[in-house]
Amino acid sequence: SIPLVYFGGIGKSAREGILVKGSNFLDALGKARIVAFDKTGTLTKGVFKTVQIVAKNSFNKDEILKFMALAEAHSSHPIANALKEAYGKEINENEIKEHEEIPGYGVRAKINGKEIMVGNDRLLHKFNIEHDTCHVKGTVVHVVVDGEYAGYIIISDEIKKDALETIQELRKLGVKKIVMLTGDSKDVAEEIAKKIGLDEFYAELLPEDKVNIIEKLGAEKENGTVVFVGDGINDAPVIARSDLGVAMGALGSDVAIETADIVIMDDKPSKLPLGIKISKKVQNIVM
Ligand code: ADP
Ligand code: MG
Repeated sequence: SIPLVYFGGIGKSAREGILVKGSNFLDALGKARIVAFDKTGTLTKGVFKTVQIVAKNSFNKDEILKFMALAEAHSSHPIANALKEAYGKEINENEIKEHEEIPGYGVRAKINGKEIMVGNDRLLHKFNIEHDTCHVKGTVVHVVVDGEYAGYIIISDEIKKDALETIQELRKLGVKKIVMLTGDSKDVAEEIAKKIGLDEFYAELLPEDKVNIIEKLGAEKENGTVVFVGDGINDAPVIARSDLGVAMGALGSDVAIETADIVIMDDKPSKLPLGIKISKKVQNIVM
């Protein structure tokens, strides 16, 4: 039977906005040894601002911005939201004929009879499209129109206010290794990792690469737990496969909230160390 104190711990967590879906998960949380964070929407706000727009070949900036916004109209990815925001105008659905999201790459769509692709370097490599390679402090999103390179936009996200303190608290609570897994570029990942003091980062990952890394990290967990924390956009597979999958609920997707063992109801990563503290208190009473 489950000691009564677990119900107290789960109740206390819930009042702090941490929904723990069972006493076994509360237990696992207190034994966190390796913590892997997703980047966008988890360690960063997931709200990108436009830094620069560069049109190439015969295209102009207004044109490529419109293509990007329309191609992203049906995506809920933070990048899609940023491009729609940068465009700023009403989107006419009649101009969009086909649309498809390619997780970890971008989107493709048919806009006013033209074949549009919007996404990262990897997407352009996949279709053999020559493009600029930018090493900048920002996320580069390229656009291709009927197979021709049309330019790119640089967008930039901010680190959450409590990210640094979260990492420091986790170390105090005995977490041995803290890493970030992201589909974004090495340049962006490296800057964040340095700023908040992560042990390692893995960049340019596809959703399935994240699963492989989580499983490899399992070899180092000793008697502890590997925890993954994500906002859930493209993260449901890795949330499902971690010892303990945590979804950040504020921006997170419904699938991720369903799949997760623990849901943090707001957008604060600092709720993770708080949950670990609550769990350790319960464990001390039980032992
Ligand atoms: P992460 O949350 O770690 O950034 P994702 O798997 O959500 O990982 O995305 C990885 C990368 O794939 C993004 O950084 C971006 O380059 C590209 N990408 C994903 N979805 C989109 C989209 N809707 N539009 C443009 N690029 C996208
Ligand atoms: Mg994400």
